[in-house]
Amino acid sequence: VAARSSETTNSGTTQQVDVAVVGAGFAGLYLLHRLRKAGFSAVVIEDAGDVGGTWYWNRYPGARCDIQTMDYSYTFDPELDREWTWSEKYATQPEILRYFGFVADRYDLRRDIRFNTRVKAANWDDASERWQLTTDNGADVSCRYYIMATGCLSTPKPPEIDGVKDFKGAIYFTGRWPHDGVDLAGKRVAVIGTGSSGIQSIPLIAEQAAHLTVFQRTASFALPAHNGPAPDDRKTYFEADRAAYREQARWSLAGVPYPQEMAVSWQLSDAERRERFEKAWAAGDLVHILTQLWADQAADFDGNALIGKLIHEKIRAVVKDPDTAAALSPHDHPFGSKRPCLDTNYYATYNRPNVTLVNLRQEPIKAITASGIVTDKRSVDLDVIVFATGFDAMTGAIMAVHPITGRAGKSLSSVWAQGPQTYLGLTVAGFPNLFMITGPGSPSVLSNMAVSIEQHVDWVVDRLAALRDAGFTTMEATETAQAGWAQHMADCSMLTLHRLANTWYTGANVPGKAQALMPYTSGVGPYRGICNEVVSRGMLGFRLT
Ligand code: FAD
Repeated sequence: VAARSSETTNSGTTQQVDVAVVGAGFAGLYLLHRLRKAGFSAVVIEDAGDVGGTWYWNRYPGARCDIQTMDYSYTFDPELDREWTWSEKYATQPEILRYFGFVADRYDLRRDIRFNTRVKAANWDDASERWQLTTDNGADVSCRYYIMATGCLSTPKPPEIDGVKDFKGAIYFTGRWPHDGVDLAGKRVAVIGTGSSGIQSIPLIAEQAAHLTVFQRTASFALPAHNGPAPDDRKTYFEADRAAYREQARWSLAGVPYPQEMAVSWQLSDAERRERFEKAWAAGDLVHILTQLWADQAADFDGNALIGKLIHEKIRAVVKDPDTAAALSPHDHPFGSKRPCLDTNYYATYNRPNVTLVNLRQEPIKAITASGIVTDKRSVDLDVIVFATGFDAMTGAIMAVHPITGRAGKSLSSVWAQGPQTYLGLTVAGFPNLFMITGPGSPSVLSNMAVSIEQHVDWVVDRLAALRDAGFTTMEATETAQAGWAQHMADCSMLTLHRLANTWYTGANVPGKAQALMPYTSGVGPYRGICNEVVSRGMLGFRLT
């Protein structure tokens, strides 16, 4: 372990460190561990009361991961990997939160984390070549390097419906669920939103509530989770050579080790396609069904539409009421262009007598009133409204730090007014020594985030150490490199179907948000190769001083 280059000091009310990290989730915890090992003084600032990020906040009933937990884990330390065994294929939120507590204890991380503290603003000072962070709670922070590990899905979207304040019942957000839980027994409950959080929570809420009304704007594709123990075939593959398994994940498309599928849809007969689809459906694995059916499934509209039809059939087979089945069947986006969800009893829940689906495409919500929700066609009396309306994704938490001011007093919000501009999704021209973990322009939410986060953290910390060792103090993307990355992003996006859907990937779920496909679409392996090449070509696209 290298000696610390400087110790944490306090001057006046300002804490002085080499590196300030914002966020103590998956990314922030690993950052702190790596920064310490590399000899940097570091502080992590976290709004929450403890570690875990996503898994601290999202405590709604049914909250689980949707990438198999065996894959959705840290891989940087084989001993840690061996010391923790997941109880299920898809672990629950409490178990994942326990894992982060275990990691924090194992590496003694909490002593450098300031909890219950929000970073409000960040300003770069050219003269001292340092960032000044303003917090809402006690000492500000002065740092050479400012790393935003603020999360892609950490800023819940505020309700867009008139009258929320008038409602006399209780209101909950899945992304800010009370720690003590909520007793919904005997209550008339509404869930607004049928993305991943809605789909996970609806079956459990329906079991408790007297009546559940689900308000759906956009139907999602949901695939059976078939949760239980980790599947034997994957476990055997993993245990045979853990290091090789992890390495294959790092170079894969989605961060889970599956081979690249070569056969295109039109080379396969109907029977062959059906067989592949049924196998994927039975596997209960998001990445399998997203990548292993046929090679053109995510690139060609017709190849993709075949999957949509097969899933519509599955929905009709479960949901007894034909109108409800039709409303639950997505027709407005290609499969995979919006994040598909995992179904544990989701579609079957609509067969319960105490559950009603309201299709907002046919009867939009007019208002929330003191007693409930009024649509064009009905008025629903309610005791509880649950907003499962998602997040201001990818840029929400970054932009919530306001202002972030770079060189010449330029603010990030002005630079990003037409949509986020980054180099590699990691850095922004004009904002030296600022880094974003899984920022817009990186594969992030289109991948197993565990793999993407570790790649970003390793790349950033390795760069900071190399910078220090070579005697440089700043690192900044050039405008040319940033423009080149935007062009490359646009070129890659033309090869996928994501651009054809209005989703949180494009910012379309947030009124007034500039629309652009934010994640990098060509996969984590190719992306890792590019980041490595940037380094091997002498920090191509960066200005070092
Ligand atoms: P987060 O976990 O979001 O942590 C960011 C932290 O930063 C938060 O704790 C927040 O409080 C803090 N923060 C933000 N702004 C500030 C500020 N200004 N000041 C102080 N603190 C701040 N990904 C997968 O790959 N597989 C899955 O199965 C999966 N399941 C998910 C399920 C749910 C319900 C959700 C919401 C997301 C899921 N994700 C999944 C995505 C998930 O967000 C990432 O996998 C991962 O947890 C992100 O880690 P992170 O550290 O980057 O960010």
